[in-house]
Amino acid sequence: MSDPVFEVRRSDRAGQGVFALRALARGEPVIELTGERLPPGRVGPEHFAVKIDDDLWLCSAGGRTDDYLNHSCRPNLGFTKGDLWLYALRDIAPGEELTFDYATAMCDVDDWNFACACGASDCRRLIGGFDRLPPRHQRRLRPWALAYIRRRFNTRRLAP
Ligand SMILES: [Zn+2]
Repeated sequence: MSDPVFEVRRSDRAGQGVFALRALARGEPVIELTGERLPPGRVGPEHFAVKIDDDLWLCSAGGRTDDYLNHSCRPNLGFTKGDLWLYALRDIAPGEELTFDYATAMCDVDDWNFACACGASDCRRLIGGFDRLPPRHQRRLRPWALAYIRRRFNTRRLAP
């Protein structure tokens, strides 16, 4: 068995979080989002749910490590290849909390938002879907977003 790469434990950020147990190198695949693929009509309040395509959600009843990944406005993980794997966006030290920007996985979800206090100097405070972001944030975050979001927000549309 290989050494564990991360663990779930209490986070100052929000309840519990996922923390690196060893150094991670920039570009390294770190963790894959997992769960059951369900159409929107079958997503319930009991689910940890992430939108992964037009009309498709990834749902978990809880207890999976990736369910505990917190949002940050200055994340250290991103969907670099557009699939469900999160890659290290920079070198990460042992003990650092692993985070991604939830807006890179949520788009065109009515009324989805939450208040953020991630502590980043450029924290957006109110986090909504990718479609609600100002264009400068869309340009910055698009390379870390899931493929369906990149398709919808092509570079031509994002040109200044
Ligand atoms: Zn924030």
